[in-house]
Amino acid sequence: MKVVRTRFAPSPTGFLHVGGIRTALFNYLLANQRGGQFILRLEDTDRQRFVPEAIEQIVDGLAWLGLKPDDGFWISGGTPQNIDYIQSNRQKSGTYQKLADKLVGDGLAYYSPTTTKELENLRLQASKAKKPFLYRRVIDGNNSDKLLPNVPIRLNIEALKRTNVEWQDEIRGKFADSLTNIEDFIIIKSDGFPTYNFANVIDDHQMNISHIIRGEEFISSTGKYGLLYDIFKWNRPKFIHLPVINGSDGKKLSKRTGDTNVLEYRDKGYLPEALLNFLALLGWNPGDGSTQEIFSRDELVKAFSLKAVNKSPAIFDQKRLDWINGQYIRQLTIDKLFVLSQSFWPKQSKHFDDSYKKAVLALVQERLKFLAELPQLTNFFFEDLPIDHKLITNHKQLSKLSKDELKSFLRSAKQILLKSDFSVTDLTNKLNELLKITGQKPVVLFSLIRIASTQASASPQLADTLAVLGKERSLKRIESTVNEV
Ligand code: GLU
Repeated sequence: MKVVRTRFAPSPTGFLHVGGIRTALFNYLLANQRGGQFILRLEDTDRQRFVPEAIEQIVDGLAWLGLKPDDGFWISGGTPQNIDYIQSNRQKSGTYQKLADKLVGDGLAYYSPTTTKELENLRLQASKAKKPFLYRRVIDGNNSDKLLPNVPIRLNIEALKRTNVEWQDEIRGKFADSLTNIEDFIIIKSDGFPTYNFANVIDDHQMNISHIIRGEEFISSTGKYGLLYDIFKWNRPKFIHLPVINGSDGKKLSKRTGDTNVLEYRDKGYLPEALLNFLALLGWNPGDGSTQEIFSRDELVKAFSLKAVNKSPAIFDQKRLDWINGQYIRQLTIDKLFVLSQSFWPKQSKHFDDSYKKAVLALVQERLKFLAELPQLTNFFFEDLPIDHKLITNHKQLSKLSKDELKSFLRSAKQILLKSDFSVTDLTNKLNELLKITGQKPVVLFSLIRIASTQASASPQLADTLAVLGKERSLKRIESTVNEV
């Protein structure tokens, strides 16, 4: 059997987004599952849209996610590794021009000097006449078999003497495109660079790619690629087009619904394994009625199957990503979580030692969905926040109590907590005693003590929270609330 070789071929025209990473991941999974190779190629032939910083961001994104290629323009570390996988480099060495010249020589392609302005006019005329516009060699009569400088080369569709092109998608079945819908598309642009349409076919062939896995937006051009494979008499690789990813509003994924630079997920404290797990489920599921949702990288490599890739749009559900990430955070040891959370602590935490911070982490680990939530969930552990009266006035039960009642409950709390050693067990006993003495329900009394000691409407278990805050801090805060309530 042929060795499986897949490739991820990003264009450095912008930042790598989740859709791109999903494509990279599916290519990575198939190659690793079949003992094949996963190749990383840089498609930088669009010089007008070229964004140099995008290359570094692509590399950083892949490195962060551990999607390590077996070969490519980058494998690991900071510097480019194999420049044969960079299209601009291949262009310099004449790879594409040579093949285009051969097509021109065979009468299957031609230099087309029609200017952009003339083209626009032709398009305009066609649209006025309500006719589809399709560029053909006869259009301006200026076209030439001779080399013309700074002029694009187009494929000569009519010279192919065929009516249609058929191709197969491994998950969507057969496609047939009529050549009456395919214009004489450009293969080499006026700047001498190949178009994506031309270069991807040549590269995939010369790089022995066996499976092309990419987004479904390429379905409409795959007929063109099929033609090129046939013209060069090259075997076609297998084509697999992944379903589009929509936002939870059912519309095309946008920045608002999750389509952000993948490194923003890193910066918000999503774990790479969790993001990969989530992305793997966008367009693939384990099938056989399995409801498994958490997959390690190795499990994904084992369970992945092209047959189980869906055709219908995948939905980017931010809540699901948060849930999955939360599951991964819960699996971490406190020491590991502590290491990962270094850059996320609230500012004031710098005055506290590691063991205090670890104790805080142990309390919030259950509730953390991503690490950037840390300040919001833990700031009260590190600073005395100003009294927030709304926490009481908006509280269903507490709002019914008079100031005197509130003060008196807080005083009783302080009295009894003064006698506690602030271990969780003792605090639990003392708090229960307090319920008995005051005849109040936990929802009243514990909420009040929580608000007084944290100035937050929600916190981990009260006894746990007080134990970490410590006796001095807790009692001081209760006391100031008595004075200000
Ligand atoms: N360079 C193309 C892109 O970034 C890759 C398309 C493909 O995978 O063939 O969209």
